[in-house]
Amino acid sequence: MTGALSAQQAQSLKEFRDFADLRIAPHADSWHRAQRTPPEVVRLLADEGLLGLPVPSRYGGGGCDAVTLGLLAGELGRACSSVRSLLTVHTMVAHAVARWGDRALKETWLPRLASGETIGALAVSEPGAGSDASAVTTRLVRDGDDWIVDGHKKWITYGQSADLFLVVGQSDQGPTALLVERDTPGLRTELIEDLVGIRASMTAHVYLERCRVPGAQLLARPGLGVSHVVGAALDLGRYTVGWGCVGILDACLEASVDYASQREQFGSLIKEHQLVRRMITGMYTDARAARLLALEAGRLRDEGDPGALAATSTAKHFAATAAGRAALDAVQIHGANGCGSDYPVQRYLGDSRVMEVIEGSTQLHQVGLAEYAFQERALRRSIR
Ligand SMILES: Cc1cc2nc3c(=O)[nH]c(=O)nc-3n(C[C@H](O)[C@H](O)[C@H](O)COP(=O)(O)OP(=O)(O)OC[C@H]3O[C@@H](n4cnc5c(N)ncnc54)[C@H](O)[C@@H]3O)c2cc1C
Repeated sequence: MTGALSAQQAQSLKEFRDFADLRIAPHADSWHRAQRTPPEVVRLLADEGLLGLPVPSRYGGGGCDAVTLGLLAGELGRACSSVRSLLTVHTMVAHAVARWGDRALKETWLPRLASGETIGALAVSEPGAGSDASAVTTRLVRDGDDWIVDGHKKWITYGQSADLFLVVGQSDQGPTALLVERDTPGLRTELIEDLVGIRASMTAHVYLERCRVPGAQLLARPGLGVSHVVGAALDLGRYTVGWGCVGILDACLEASVDYASQREQFGSLIKEHQLVRRMITGMYTDARAARLLALEAGRLRDEGDPGALAATSTAKHFAATAAGRAALDAVQIHGANGCGSDYPVQRYLGDSRVMEVIEGSTQLHQVGLAEYAFQERALRRSIR
């Protein structure tokens, strides 16, 4: 299904696929078991220019289009959802800086984020603030030109290894976003182990105790931290997570087709059994549909179409729930082998669970997407 791609995008897809097959996929299970992403892997992604791919070229990034970024997220997601999540959070931070940083902030951080010299993490969630990001209680208090930051962030992907945190807290003017460097006195992180999925993602607590942060690290005006800064970051995060789920769907399909083609029961390959075929048909259909939705979202993003927001949420919602179904069926097709750790489908099952929680849970999408349907209907009526 590469017909909708330009020649350049098709070439990039081939390169991403080779990279993911050769450099990431063979090691994903061992990183998953070790619950770590080796620093050399982060270095490798940075050296290949992959972490800076969407950063504008005037800041040293690849300046790629949205479709190309999606293709990369899809191939990394097929190989290893943890590594894909590094791309997601790092590019969310870079995007927020590009969109909401002032000139000095962009000139300071974007070249470093583009090269991967600095790895970014998004620190919004807290023990008491998840889906409702505006409920964060981290305190940001002005002290001269600086901010003093006190709070506890939780579930921060690559928080254990990132260099720069986009922290959202409450100032006197409401939710406010700041960039906080890892070596800021008072900042410490603690790895969260035994996650159900993306187990190599170095997800961590981030504790901030009287951290002094220069005022120049502010993103957007105080008060716009959630509505504008997190809003922009989340929109991009949804996009790459949606593509990552396309990758999980592909991985489930590949593993299931291979397994069903060599496993025999009752005197025939299990791929001959109709109920096994039904599960593979479901995955095949969902994988194609999810890819088309993700491609449509990418195309609309590249065209600057206002419908891109709804298309991105739709693609993420469909792909995440379809990846959940596919991972369940992939485990079922593998039987007992799906319940063990000799095959990667167990990893896909855990990873797919996380995809329905992050970047807007399935329930938030179920509640929210209907709004787009009402809006689009009202718009059509008003035009007539
Ligand atoms: C592995 C992992 C990595 C993460 N990485 C990051 C990160 O890098 N940075 C970061 O800031 N956060 C991160 N998070 C946190 C993530 O953003 C939150 O988990 C997510 O926002 C959901 O919040 P919650 O888990 O507190 O669930 P809650 O918001 O407490 O929701 C609990 C349940 O209630 C449902 N629910 C909540 N509100 C509604 C509603 N209005 N209508 C219907 N149902 C509702 C939810 O769908 C869910 O089923 C990560 C989480 C995980 C698991």
